[in-house]
Amino acid sequence: MIANREFEIMDRNALHALQEDRLAKTVRWLWEKSDFYRTLMQERYDDEKSVSLANLSMMPLTRRADLEKEAPYGLLTFPITTVERIHILAGQSGHLAACYTNGDIGKWMELVTRPLLAGGMNVTSIVGMVSDYGVNPDGLALHYGAEIIGATTIPLPANIYRQVEAVKKLSITALAGSIEDLVQLGHALYGRGNVERVFAVMRAGDDALVEELATLYKGKITKILAVDEVMGAGVAFDCGNGWHIAEDAFFAEVVDADGEPVEDGTCGQLVLTTLVREAMPLIRYATGIEGTLTHETCECGRTTARFHVKKNG
Ligand SMILES: [Zn+2]
Repeated sequence: MIANREFEIMDRNALHALQEDRLAKTVRWLWEKSDFYRTLMQERYDDEKSVSLANLSMMPLTRRADLEKEAPYGLLTFPITTVERIHILAGQSGHLAACYTNGDIGKWMELVTRPLLAGGMNVTSIVGMVSDYGVNPDGLALHYGAEIIGATTIPLPANIYRQVEAVKKLSITALAGSIEDLVQLGHALYGRGNVERVFAVMRAGDDALVEELATLYKGKITKILAVDEVMGAGVAFDCGNGWHIAEDAFFAEVVDADGEPVEDGTCGQLVLTTLVREAMPLIRYATGIEGTLTHETCECGRTTARFHVKKNG
Protein backbone atom coordinates (compact mmCIF):
# COMPACT_ATOMS: atom_id res chain seq x y z
CA MET A 1 0.00 0.00 0.00
CA ILE A 2 1.21 3.50 -0.84
CA ALA A 3 0.68 5.48 2.36
CA ASN A 4 1.21 9.04 1.20
CA ARG A 5 -0.09 9.37 -2.34
CA GLU A 6 0.64 13.10 -2.36
CA PHE A 7 4.38 12.62 -2.07
CA GLU A 8 5.23 9.00 -2.92
CA ILE A 9 3.77 9.12 -6.42
CA MET A 10 4.21 12.83 -7.05
CA ASP A 11 4.97 14.09 -10.55
CA ARG A 12 8.74 14.63 -10.62
CA ASN A 13 8.51 18.23 -11.86
CA ALA A 14 6.14 19.05 -9.01
CA LEU A 15 8.44 17.23 -6.59
CA HIS A 16 11.41 19.26 -7.83
CA ALA A 17 9.45 22.49 -7.28
CA LEU A 18 8.47 21.35 -3.79
CA GLN A 19 12.09 20.52 -2.95
CA GLU A 20 13.25 23.90 -4.29
CA ASP A 21 10.69 25.70 -2.15
CA ARG A 22 11.56 23.70 0.96
CA LEU A 23 15.30 24.17 0.41
CA ALA A 24 14.78 27.95 0.13
CA LYS A 25 12.93 27.95 3.46
CA THR A 26 15.63 25.82 5.09
CA VAL A 27 18.40 28.07 3.76
CA ARG A 28 16.60 31.23 4.87
CA TRP A 29 16.23 29.76 8.32
CA LEU A 30 19.86 28.63 8.53
CA TRP A 31 21.17 31.95 7.24
CA GLU A 32 19.38 33.68 10.08
CA LYS A 33 19.84 31.13 12.88
CA SER A 34 22.94 29.00 12.28
CA ASP A 35 26.43 30.49 12.71
CA PHE A 36 27.91 27.25 11.36
CA TYR A 37 26.00 27.23 8.07
CA ARG A 38 25.78 31.01 7.62
CA THR A 39 29.58 31.26 7.58
CA LEU A 40 29.85 28.49 4.99
CA MET A 41 27.13 30.01 2.81
CA GLN A 42 28.44 33.59 2.99
CA GLU A 43 31.78 32.39 1.65
CA ARG A 44 30.07 30.93 -1.44
CA TYR A 45 26.86 32.84 -2.22
CA ASP A 46 25.87 36.52 -2.51
CA ASP A 47 22.85 36.04 -0.26
CA GLU A 48 20.41 33.38 0.95
CA LYS A 49 18.27 33.79 -2.19
CA SER A 50 21.21 32.68 -4.37
CA VAL A 51 21.19 29.12 -3.00
CA SER A 52 19.25 26.60 -5.08
CA LEU A 53 19.14 22.88 -5.81
CA ALA A 54 21.18 23.55 -8.98
CA ASN A 55 24.10 25.16 -7.14
CA LEU A 56 23.81 23.45 -3.76
CA SER A 57 26.96 21.47 -4.59
CA MET A 58 28.96 24.66 -3.99
CA MET A 59 28.42 23.91 -0.30
CA PRO A 60 30.95 21.57 1.34
CA LEU A 61 29.77 18.23 2.71
CA THR A 62 28.72 18.18 6.36
CA ARG A 63 30.45 15.25 8.02
CA ARG A 64 29.92 13.21 11.15
CA ALA A 65 32.98 14.94 12.66
CA ASP A 66 31.25 18.33 12.18
CA LEU A 67 28.24 17.07 14.09
CA GLU A 68 30.35 15.63 16.88
CA LYS A 69 32.04 19.03 17.21
CA GLU A 70 28.94 21.23 16.88
CA ALA A 71 25.87 19.20 17.83
CA PRO A 72 23.50 19.50 19.35
CA TYR A 73 23.48 23.05 20.62
CA GLY A 74 25.91 24.48 18.05
CA LEU A 75 23.54 23.39 15.27
CA LEU A 76 20.31 24.18 17.06
CA THR A 77 18.18 26.70 15.19
CA PHE A 78 15.34 26.85 17.73
CA PRO A 79 15.44 27.86 21.40
CA ILE A 80 15.91 24.86 23.67
CA THR A 81 12.42 25.49 25.11
CA THR A 82 10.92 24.35 21.79
CA VAL A 83 12.98 21.16 21.67
CA GLU A 84 10.62 18.35 22.56
CA ARG A 85 13.04 15.47 22.45
CA ILE A 86 16.78 14.75 22.29
CA HIS A 87 18.02 11.40 21.05
CA ILE A 88 21.49 10.20 21.93
CA LEU A 89 22.90 8.44 18.89
CA ALA A 90 25.60 5.82 19.17
CA GLY A 91 28.46 5.81 16.71
CA GLN A 92 31.84 4.26 16.15
CA SER A 93 33.66 7.52 16.72
CA GLY A 94 31.58 8.72 19.65
CA HIS A 95 28.10 9.62 20.78
CA LEU A 96 26.13 12.53 19.49
CA ALA A 97 22.83 14.09 20.35
CA ALA A 98 20.11 15.20 17.96
CA CYS A 99 17.29 17.61 18.84
CA TYR A 100 13.72 17.45 17.56
CA THR A 101 10.88 19.95 17.78
CA ASN A 102 7.24 18.92 17.93
CA GLY A 103 7.10 19.52 14.16
CA ASP A 104 10.15 17.30 13.57
CA ILE A 105 8.63 14.44 15.54
CA GLY A 106 5.29 14.78 13.73
CA LYS A 107 6.98 14.62 10.32
CA TRP A 108 9.17 11.71 11.41
CA MET A 109 6.15 9.73 12.53
CA GLU A 110 4.42 10.31 9.18
CA LEU A 111 7.56 9.17 7.34
CA VAL A 112 7.66 5.98 9.40
CA THR A 113 4.06 5.11 8.52
CA ARG A 114 5.11 4.79 4.86
CA PRO A 115 7.22 1.62 5.20
CA LEU A 116 4.86 0.22 7.83
CA LEU A 117 1.84 0.52 5.51
CA ALA A 118 3.92 -0.62 2.51
CA GLY A 119 4.78 -3.76 4.49
CA GLY A 120 1.14 -4.50 5.23
CA MET A 121 0.65 -3.17 8.76
CA ASN A 122 -2.98 -2.24 9.42
CA VAL A 123 -5.58 -1.93 12.18
CA THR A 124 -5.76 -5.70 12.58
CA SER A 125 -2.01 -6.00 13.25
CA ILE A 126 -0.84 -6.87 16.75
CA VAL A 127 2.67 -5.47 16.78
CA GLY A 128 5.44 -6.32 19.21
CA MET A 129 8.06 -3.59 19.53
CA VAL A 130 11.33 -5.39 20.05
CA SER A 131 13.86 -2.62 20.64
CA ASP A 132 14.51 -0.80 23.89
CA TYR A 133 13.65 2.82 23.16
CA GLY A 134 16.52 4.29 25.17
CA VAL A 135 19.07 2.10 23.40
CA ASN A 136 17.45 2.39 19.99
CA PRO A 137 15.41 5.60 19.53
CA ASP A 138 14.09 4.27 16.20
CA GLY A 139 11.88 1.96 18.24
CA LEU A 140 10.03 5.02 19.48
CA ALA A 141 9.39 6.15 15.90
CA LEU A 142 8.08 2.71 14.95
CA HIS A 143 5.87 2.67 18.04
CA TYR A 144 4.19 5.97 17.20
CA GLY A 145 3.96 5.06 13.51
CA ALA A 146 2.13 1.83 14.38
CA GLU A 147 -0.25 3.69 16.67
CA ILE A 148 -1.01 6.26 13.97
CA ILE A 149 -1.96 3.37 11.68
CA GLY A 150 -4.20 2.03 14.42
CA ALA A 151 -2.35 -1.22 15.03
CA THR A 152 -2.36 -2.76 18.49
CA THR A 153 1.08 -1.80 19.75
CA ILE A 154 3.00 -3.68 22.45
CA PRO A 155 6.39 -2.54 23.77
CA LEU A 156 8.03 -5.87 24.60
CA PRO A 157 10.09 -6.43 27.75
CA ALA A 158 13.88 -6.51 27.42
CA ASN A 159 14.14 -10.13 28.61
CA ILE A 160 14.25 -12.39 25.55
CA TYR A 161 12.31 -15.23 27.22
CA ARG A 162 9.51 -12.86 28.18
CA GLN A 163 9.52 -11.60 24.57
CA VAL A 164 8.96 -15.15 23.34
CA GLU A 165 6.21 -15.63 25.89
CA ALA A 166 4.51 -12.39 24.77
CA VAL A 167 4.67 -13.32 21.07
CA LYS A 168 2.83 -16.57 21.82
CA LYS A 169 0.44 -15.43 24.55
CA LEU A 170 -0.66 -12.16 22.92
CA SER A 171 -0.95 -13.65 19.41
CA ILE A 172 1.49 -11.10 18.01
CA THR A 173 1.28 -10.95 14.20
CA ALA A 174 4.03 -8.42 13.50
CA LEU A 175 7.37 -7.47 15.00
CA ALA A 176 9.21 -4.19 14.59
CA GLY A 177 12.59 -3.01 15.79
CA SER A 178 16.27 -3.01 14.99
CA ILE A 179 17.43 -5.84 12.78
CA GLU A 180 19.89 -6.99 15.47
CA ASP A 181 17.11 -7.33 18.07
CA LEU A 182 14.81 -9.05 15.56
CA VAL A 183 17.50 -11.60 14.70
CA GLN A 184 18.07 -12.28 18.40
CA LEU A 185 14.34 -12.82 19.01
CA GLY A 186 14.06 -14.92 15.84
CA HIS A 187 16.63 -17.34 17.22
CA ALA A 188 14.80 -17.54 20.54
CA LEU A 189 11.40 -18.05 18.86
CA TYR A 190 12.73 -21.01 16.95
CA GLY A 191 9.78 -20.94 14.53
CA ARG A 192 7.15 -20.58 17.24
CA GLY A 193 4.38 -17.99 17.16
CA ASN A 194 2.45 -16.58 14.23
CA VAL A 195 4.55 -13.64 13.07
CA GLU A 196 3.34 -12.69 9.59
CA ARG A 197 5.25 -9.44 9.15
CA VAL A 198 8.61 -8.16 10.28
CA PHE A 199 9.66 -4.51 10.09
CA ALA A 200 13.42 -4.25 10.39
CA VAL A 201 15.28 -1.00 10.92
CA MET A 202 18.76 -1.37 9.53
CA ARG A 203 21.84 0.43 8.34
CA ALA A 204 23.14 0.13 4.82
CA GLY A 205 25.43 -2.88 4.63
CA ASP A 206 23.49 -5.11 7.02
CA ASP A 207 23.04 -7.67 4.21
CA ALA A 208 24.24 -10.63 6.26
CA LEU A 209 21.69 -9.83 8.97
CA VAL A 210 18.93 -9.55 6.34
CA GLU A 211 19.77 -13.03 5.07
CA GLU A 212 19.79 -14.36 8.61
CA LEU A 213 16.44 -12.68 9.32
CA ALA A 214 14.91 -14.34 6.26
CA THR A 215 15.91 -17.77 7.57
CA LEU A 216 14.35 -17.05 10.98
CA TYR A 217 10.95 -15.66 9.96
CA LYS A 218 8.55 -17.09 7.41
CA GLY A 219 6.59 -13.82 7.10
CA LYS A 220 7.12 -10.77 4.89
CA ILE A 221 10.15 -8.67 5.83
CA THR A 222 10.16 -4.92 5.25
CA LYS A 223 13.54 -3.21 5.37
CA ILE A 224 13.59 0.35 6.73
CA LEU A 225 16.74 2.41 6.36
CA ALA A 226 17.90 4.57 9.25
CA VAL A 227 20.39 7.36 8.81
CA ASP A 228 20.59 8.45 12.43
CA GLU A 229 22.18 11.84 11.94
CA VAL A 230 19.58 12.86 9.34
CA MET A 231 16.42 11.60 11.03
CA GLY A 232 16.61 7.88 11.74
CA ALA A 233 14.23 5.17 10.57
CA GLY A 234 12.08 6.21 7.64
CA VAL A 235 14.61 8.17 5.58
CA ALA A 236 14.15 5.39 3.01
CA PHE A 237 12.67 1.91 2.72
CA ASP A 238 13.13 -0.97 0.31
CA CYS A 239 10.11 -1.82 -1.83
CA GLY A 240 12.08 -4.77 -3.24
CA ASN A 241 13.48 -2.72 -6.11
CA GLY A 242 15.76 -0.42 -4.13
CA TRP A 243 15.60 2.09 -1.29
CA HIS A 244 12.90 4.70 -1.94
CA ILE A 245 14.07 7.98 -0.45
CA ALA A 246 11.42 10.24 1.10
CA GLU A 247 12.26 13.07 -1.26
CA ASP A 248 9.66 15.49 0.08
CA ALA A 249 11.78 15.52 3.25
CA PHE A 250 15.31 14.91 1.91
CA PHE A 251 17.21 16.04 -1.17
CA ALA A 252 19.45 13.19 -2.26
CA GLU A 253 22.69 13.36 -4.22
CA VAL A 254 25.34 10.80 -5.01
CA VAL A 255 28.77 12.40 -5.10
CA ASP A 256 32.33 11.50 -6.10
CA ALA A 257 35.42 11.73 -3.88
CA ASP A 258 35.53 15.52 -4.42
CA GLY A 259 31.93 15.99 -3.32
CA GLU A 260 30.72 16.65 -6.87
CA PRO A 261 27.35 15.14 -7.87
CA VAL A 262 27.51 12.24 -10.34
CA GLU A 263 24.92 11.04 -12.83
CA ASP A 264 22.29 8.39 -12.13
CA GLY A 265 23.80 4.92 -12.19
CA THR A 266 27.30 6.10 -11.26
CA CYS A 267 28.57 4.84 -7.93
CA GLY A 268 29.40 7.33 -5.21
CA GLN A 269 28.51 8.43 -1.71
CA LEU A 270 24.91 9.20 -0.73
CA VAL A 271 24.55 12.78 0.48
CA LEU A 272 21.32 14.05 2.06
CA THR A 273 20.01 17.55 2.72
CA THR A 274 17.07 17.87 5.10
CA LEU A 275 14.14 19.85 3.68
CA VAL A 276 11.66 19.89 6.58
CA ARG A 277 13.75 19.43 9.69
CA GLU A 278 13.33 22.35 12.08
CA ALA A 279 15.63 22.02 15.08
CA MET A 280 18.78 20.78 13.38
CA PRO A 281 18.63 21.10 9.57
CA LEU A 282 21.58 19.57 7.75
CA ILE A 283 22.98 20.65 4.40
CA ARG A 284 24.71 17.98 2.29
CA TYR A 285 25.26 15.43 5.04
CA ALA A 286 27.80 12.80 3.94
CA THR A 287 26.17 9.51 4.96
CA GLY A 288 29.20 7.33 4.18
CA ILE A 289 26.89 4.97 2.25
CA GLU A 290 28.16 4.00 -1.20
CA GLY A 291 25.87 3.17 -4.10
CA THR A 292 23.91 4.49 -7.06
CA LEU A 293 20.80 6.60 -7.51
CA THR A 294 18.01 6.31 -10.06
CA HIS A 295 15.09 8.69 -10.66
CA GLU A 296 13.09 6.38 -12.94
CA THR A 297 9.56 5.50 -11.84
CA CYS A 298 9.60 2.20 -9.98
CA GLU A 299 7.57 -0.91 -10.79
CA CYS A 300 5.80 -0.39 -7.46
CA GLY A 301 4.39 2.90 -8.79
CA ARG A 302 6.42 5.24 -6.61
CA THR A 303 8.14 8.12 -8.37
CA THR A 304 10.62 8.89 -5.60
CA ALA A 305 14.33 8.32 -6.24
CA ARG A 306 15.73 4.92 -5.41
CA PHE A 307 19.15 4.22 -3.98
CA HIS A 308 20.95 0.93 -4.57
CA VAL A 309 23.59 0.19 -1.98
CA LYS A 310 26.91 -0.97 -3.37
CA LYS A 311 27.50 -4.59 -2.49
CA ASN A 312 30.83 -5.30 -0.88
CA GLY A 313 33.06 -7.90 -2.49
ZN1 LIG B 1 9.49 0.72 -5.66
